[in-house]
Amino acid sequence: MKQNRVYNFNAGPATLPLPVLEEVQNNFLNFNGSGMSITEISHRSKWFEDVLNDGINRIKKLLKLDDKYHVLFIQGGASLQFSMVPMNLINGNAPADYINTGTWAKKAMKEAKILGKPFKVIATSEDKNFSYIPKNFKINSDAVYVHITSNNTIEGTQWDSFPDTYNIPLVADMSSDILCKPFDVKNFGLIFAGAQKNIGPAGVCMVIIREDMLEKIPDNLPTMLNYKTYTSSNSLYNTPPCFGIYIIQLVAKWIEETIGGLVKMEELNRKKAEMLYKCIDGTGFYKGTAEKDSRSIMNVTFRLNSEQLEKKFIEEAKKNGLEGLKGHRSVGGCRASIYNAMTLDGICSLVDFMKNFEKNNG
Ligand SMILES: *Cc1c(COP(=O)(O)O)cnc(C)c1O
Repeated sequence: MKQNRVYNFNAGPATLPLPVLEEVQNNFLNFNGSGMSITEISHRSKWFEDVLNDGINRIKKLLKLDDKYHVLFIQGGASLQFSMVPMNLINGNAPADYINTGTWAKKAMKEAKILGKPFKVIATSEDKNFSYIPKNFKINSDAVYVHITSNNTIEGTQWDSFPDTYNIPLVADMSSDILCKPFDVKNFGLIFAGAQKNIGPAGVCMVIIREDMLEKIPDNLPTMLNYKTYTSSNSLYNTPPCFGIYIIQLVAKWIEETIGGLVKMEELNRKKAEMLYKCIDGTGFYKGTAEKDSRSIMNVTFRLNSEQLEKKFIEEAKKNGLEGLKGHRSVGGCRASIYNAMTLDGICSLVDFMKNFEKNNG
C-alpha cells in the first residue's frame, strides 16, 4: 500500500519514483496487451524491442548524445566495468590515469592491477579520508583515458564540474549520479552506471561508449567482456536484463515528462541538497564530513557527537518512517542518499526530524 511506504534514504538499491513503480504495477500482469508480464516475454519480441529502443532514445535525448555514442546494457554491475574498462581500452604500453577519490575508485584500480594493465594514479584525496575532490593534478599526455568517479557514494563527495582532459577521453563511474544533472558529454569516451542508485533496479549496468573507443579493443577478449559484442547487437547478443532495462526506460520517461528534463532535475536536486546541508550546518550539532566545495548533491554524509548518539538518531529516524540513514559500514556516521526519486516532501520530513532530534538531544 502506498500509504505504508517510508522515505527511503538507502544508498543502493535505492528509492525509485512512485509513478514509475505504479506504472510497473498497473501493467505487470498484461504488458501492453501481450497477456504476459515484462518478465515473461521474449527479449526478441517487438514488445521488448520497443522498450529497449525507447529507453535508449530517451537516454540519448536526455544527455544530448549524438550518433557517435552507443547506449548499452550489461550485467555484472558497475563492478564488472572496473575490469571491462581496462581490458578493452588499455591495449599496449600507454597507461591510463586514475584519480583516487574513494572506495569505488580504489576498487576500479584494483582490477586494472589484477589485469596487469599499466596505469598511474595522478591524484588522490586519501590524505584527508577522501573528504574532497582533488583540484590540482596533471594528466599524462600519453594517457589512454582518465578514470574518475563522478560521485563518491560512500564518502559524500562529487565532481561539480569535470576536468579538462585535452582530448584524452574521460572514463567515468557515474553509478550514483547519472541523470542527476545535465553535463557536456563530449570529453567522455565511456560512462558507466550501475542502475540501482539513480535509474533502476539492481542487475543492469548502463554503459555509454563513444564509437572511437571501440578501435582500441583487443580481439582476444571473451565475447561477453568485449564492448563490441554489445554495440553490434544492440545489447541483444544474449538475454539482457529485461526487467531492469524496462525500469530504466520508465525512469527516463519520468525525468522527461514529469520532471521536465535534466535542467529541472538538477534544480530540484540542488534545492533538496541545500535544505539538508543548511540544516547540517545550522548549529554544530550535526557535522558534514565532506569539504563544502566538494559536497555531493546525491549522498549527504554527516556525523553526530558520538557513535551512541548516531545509533539513536538512526533508530528514531526509522521509527519516524525515515529509512536507511546509516553511513556505509567502512566509514560509519550517517548518510542520507537523496537521489532523483527522493521527493521534496521526503527532505522536509528528514529536516523536521533532525531539528526535533537536536532539540531533544542537543
Ligand atoms: C554502488 C557503486 C558501485 C558498485 O556497483 P555494483 O553494481 O554493486 O557493482 C560502483 N561505483 C559506485 C560509484 C557506486 O556507487
